[in-house]
Amino acid sequence: MKIHEFQAKELLRRFGVSTPNGRECTTPEEAEAAHTALGTPVTVVKAQIHAGGRGKGGGVKVVKSAAEARAAAAGMLGKALITPQTGPAGQVVRRIWVEEGSDIASELYVGIAIDRETQLPVLMASSEGGMDIEEVAAKTPEKILKVGFSPATGLAEADAKRLAEGIGLTGKSTAQGVAFMLALTKAYCELDCSLAEINPLVTTKAGDVLALDAKINFDSNGLFRHPELEELRDLHEEDPKEIEASKFDLSYIALDGNIGCMVNGAGLAMATMDVIKLHGGDPANFLDVGGGATKENVKAAFKILLSDENVKGVLVNIFGGIMRCDVIAEGICAAVKEVDLSVPLVVRLEGTNVEKGKQILDSSGLPLITASDLDDAAEKVCRAVTA
Ligand code: ADP
Ligand code: MG
Repeated sequence: MKIHEFQAKELLRRFGVSTPNGRECTTPEEAEAAHTALGTPVTVVKAQIHAGGRGKGGGVKVVKSAAEARAAAAGMLGKALITPQTGPAGQVVRRIWVEEGSDIASELYVGIAIDRETQLPVLMASSEGGMDIEEVAAKTPEKILKVGFSPATGLAEADAKRLAEGIGLTGKSTAQGVAFMLALTKAYCELDCSLAEINPLVTTKAGDVLALDAKINFDSNGLFRHPELEELRDLHEEDPKEIEASKFDLSYIALDGNIGCMVNGAGLAMATMDVIKLHGGDPANFLDVGGGATKENVKAAFKILLSDENVKGVLVNIFGGIMRCDVIAEGICAAVKEVDLSVPLVVRLEGTNVEKGKQILDSSGLPLITASDLDDAAEKVCRAVTA
């Protein structure tokens, strides 16, 4: 689950991470009042969407008066903001964050993510913060310092110091940088984050260290431990199909292609997408209906798949292990009858009760294309969507 910058900053502040003061606003009038209330000569008006690169897209404006703050907010609210991370349609701005302008001396980078090789969270820091950290990672990876840490013991202070000095902090900024990293790692572990990224972390001309941007993603599997985080979810920022899928415990991720996929098991879903690609096709989604899906779940999954107007064909690939093929077959038939299927549907079933499942499909009278194995299924669906 993703949250907005201002929400991330509010959460991090509770852990002792230093951030500029600010106000959340939903109207230009509120932005105007926020500038006055903050009382600094310069404030920054920042569009709140679940995507980075806002600075490049015109979603971060430095202003010097309440009237300018109002105008900047008016220019953003209700409009789609296009950034390198939003895709061409952009994302509509519904909220603004107005915060104190910082007197920036240097822009650094600090981030925490899971390193799947060492199976530990890893703290990354760089002197090259700001808007292009992806380029730093690609071209000069040696400028990104890393240290892993155990969630059980946390980050060692000596490691934090090494990184703080390594990214060029000196004097009182070093101590503040160390405190910052320790607070950030604590927040990361306690909140079950999958990502915490501060870009930029800045030093001010006075030598203070603070987070000018903050991005937090939570591990959805840990969310049940933090019911209070649920209210931070912003459904406007999520694909409606993904919201619907989460109601039925379906793991669904929308993609750009035209072949809808319904598969059970994440690994099989990945393999299915690969084989579709191998045959020259493009998956419209990742969808794992799970091991214990019911007829209702399968029906819901079908409706979600077909609500994507890019979908020109559907491939159902189910291995009936825990799940029985006849249940799947019944779900498919019920769904197809209900949704008025207008695109070709290729079905490949294998596993428990496969004969019974095939019988149900064959005697349904529905225009299904059955396939003998995954290769055959992928080839058939690719041919059907290009026909
Ligand atoms: P994004 O990463 O989405 O572009 P950021 O919050 O990182 O958005 O802002 C982009 C840039 O705007 C920063 O790198 C920084 O230079 C400037 N900026 C952001 N917030 C402030 C602030 N409070 N004071 C001064 N400059 C800021
Ligand atoms: Mg940023």
